[in-house]
Amino acid sequence: MSILLQCRHCADAIGSVSKSEVSETMLGINTLSQKEQEEMIEYKEDGTMIIQSICEQCEDTLTKYPEFHELHYFIH
Ligand SMILES: [Zn+2]
Repeated sequence: MSILLQCRHCADAIGSVSKSEVSETMLGINTLSQKEQEEMIEYKEDGTMIIQSICEQCEDTLTKYPEFHELHYFIH
């Protein structure tokens, strides 16, 4: 089973890790509420966990242009 990190803004794959390398505690998943977990985490049929995150490029863009925070999707 693997965990895939995907950017919520541009849908780029940020990276993947195997479940044995990280624990949910390390990822901070256990600090999220049930609702947040449902929003951020998807499970594929093969058991791959997809975590919606943010890539460096989008993070940079949001730092420079904070108004983009209001948009759910944009192309950088
Ligand atoms: Zn991105």
